Amino acid sequence: MEKGLLIVLSGPSGTGKGTVCKALLKKHPEIALSVSCTTRPPRAGEVHGKHYFFMDREDFEKRIAEGAFLEYANVFSNFYGTPRGFVEETLAQGKDVLLEIDVQGALQVKESAPDGVFIFLIPPSMEELEKRIRSRATETEEKIRERLGKANAEMSLMDKYDYVIVNDEVDRVVEKIESILTAEKLSVKRRKISNERSDVK
Ligand code: 5GP
Repeated sequence: MEKGLLIVLSGPSGTGKGTVCKALLKKHPEIALSVSCTTRPPRAGEVHGKHYFFMDREDFEKRIAEGAFLEYANVFSNFYGTPRGFVEETLAQGKDVLLEIDVQGALQVKESAPDGVFIFLIPPSMEELEKRIRSRATETEEKIRERLGKANAEMSLMDKYDYVIVNDEVDRVVEKIESILTAEKLSVKRRKISNERSDVK
């Protein structure tokens, strides 16, 4: 059976990755979302097992030691990690898997799974990003500055990705992702990768 496609949607915090993911999954329920583990406390309305697997630091570190994460990163003082088992099993079943993760995590996945599709989502402008980050009224000025500084540094990592999309309008972004996935599935390079895999068996 042909393996599913690993889709990595990443980009600086505040670019609207979450909103894009939600819209993509609504239109494409056949894509499986990888639910991450995190040490961040749940926000109002977040459900364990649906938005994240919430856990304490000790539990997270135990999983790191067991090699249970495909990647993990410390994002603004909390740990986030992608469960390896779910991703590998779901891809093996021929289903596409979507990861919505930060830039550090995406670059780790690229090392271990270079045949994934790496999409970098950017804001229409840095001014717009600042507006979005500031509109999350929960943060202190210091935290806002920290996020903006990190976002600026992360923008320079764009060339490590396969595709870049400006998040101007969510429906348009979803259409662009659909085009990318269609093209990737038709790519000769990918066909070769999947033939090489079946040769090994
Ligand atoms: P939030 O706490 O707002 O849900 O997420 C903060 C950041 O962590 C976002 O940029 C999100 O994409 C990222 N993130 C969520 N899950 C993971 C994960 O499993 N690994 C990594 N590296 N980043 C993640």
